This record gives sequence, C-alpha cells and structure tokens, in this order.
Amino acid sequence: MKIEILGCSGAVTRGLNTTSILVDGSLLIDAGSVSSELSEDSIIDIRNILITHSHIDHIKELPFIVDALFCRKIKGVTVWGSEATLDILKRHVFNGLIWPEINDLYVEGGFLELKTIPREGFVHENIKVQAFPVNHIKGSVGYILSENNKSVIFSGDVGYDKTLFDFVESFGDSLAALFIEVSFPDEMDHLANVSHHLTPELLAKGLEGIVSSSTKVIAYHIKPKYLDTVVAQLSPRFDYIKGGEVFEF
Ligand SMILES: [Zn+2]
Ligand SMILES: [Zn+2]
Repeated sequence: MKIEILGCSGAVTRGLNTTSILVDGSLLIDAGSVSSELSEDSIIDIRNILITHSHIDHIKELPFIVDALFCRKIKGVTVWGSEATLDILKRHVFNGLIWPEINDLYVEGGFLELKTIPREGFVHENIKVQAFPVNHIKGSVGYILSENNKSVIFSGDVGYDKTLFDFVESFGDSLAALFIEVSFPDEMDHLANVSHHLTPELLAKGLEGIVSSSTKVIAYHIKPKYLDTVVAQLSPRFDYIKGGEVFEF
C-alpha cells in the first residue's frame, strides 16, 4: 500500500499542517489537511474517510471535502469513525450553523454516508480496515490497515496506555509499520499525561522490547514549536515525519 503523508503536525504553522494520511489515493485517515494539500481532482478519488477523533486538527478540512464532493456530484463516499465521534461531527460541525446539516444536503443526496465502524471492520479495495479504541478523548480510535498478511497501525492521538502497547506487540513480525503520535518533549510529560499524548520517553518506555526489528516505528503529530527538541529526544531506532513523505508497504 502506498501511504502519502499530506500533513501530520500537532498544530498548523507555515509549512506544517495537521493530520491527513492518504492511502492508495482513495482511503483517507483524518481530515486535517486535504483541501489545502490536494487538488480537487485528487480529492474526488477518495472513497473512504477514517476519522480517529473529533479534535479540530483531525477534522478541520472535512467540510471542504464534503463541499468538493457535493459540487462535483461525486456520490458514495463514506466517513467512518466511532459512534461518539460521528455524533460530535453531526452536532457540532454539520449542524446548520458551522456547516450545512449533514442530513439536509449530503446524506439524502447520496453524496456522503456517516457510518460507525463495525467491530469486524470493512474492506477498502484489497485493504482490510479495522479500528481499535485508544486513550485520548471520548470515542478516539486508531486504525489498522492490513494487506497481504502485513499490517500498518496508525495510533491516532493517544496517551500512555499499556493496553495499546500490548496490542501492538500482538502483531509480531506481521506489523510492517507503526505510525504513533509523539506530541510533546520529555520535559512536558505532565501536559502530555493530562492531555493524553506521548513524549519520546513515554514512547520508548511503551515500546521497549516489544516491536520486531522489521517493524518501522514512525513518530508523528509533533507540535511544531517543539519539533527540534522532540526529534533530538527520539530514540535513533524510531523515525519521524513532518508531512510530505511517501511510504510503500
Ligand atoms: Zn486529539
Ligand atoms: Zn491531534
């Protein structure tokens, strides 16, 4: 699978944008930077949109994706997320005040469907997509994409949680890559803990001895203000991304 990092920062500043990861040109993880990074011709190729949680850095361009689909009369796109996340989107974004109500324009016209991701997941082209709950805000999930007996995990925003690291360990050698958030430097561990984010030290502690040497560990969602510090503190075993990178797994 081809993975393009459209954006992956924990905030917006010139040259760094928030989380959106495009898979094989048609599957999107989070909607933090889509219309600001892709042409409308590319946006309308997206068929499934996976939302990890409702924080604005993960959804801010969803209204403009919806707008592009509507204007170009592209039908059959699905937005997936937990029940709580989709409910928040309907009540607080697509509510007729911030953006048109989702039921008025989009669902009834068949442009868009909001679906709670089922426990067994769903299949996008050849990729099996599944969600797992994570420790961040209500309704937060990470996603697992699996193809040809290999999996890639996207943690979404997540705080330190042994359950997550046990889950990661259970994949063994089949885990090709783990994209995992690291938002703050080590000296801000108090803020990281109360806001349910990771630091380089917490990541190293959680992953110590559990990931296969064949698994690529990629830190993302670094707050731009702390980018250099976080990168300096990251274990050399781990990679990091800033946006614009392309991977093939
Ligand atoms: Zn968040
Ligand atoms: Zn975030």
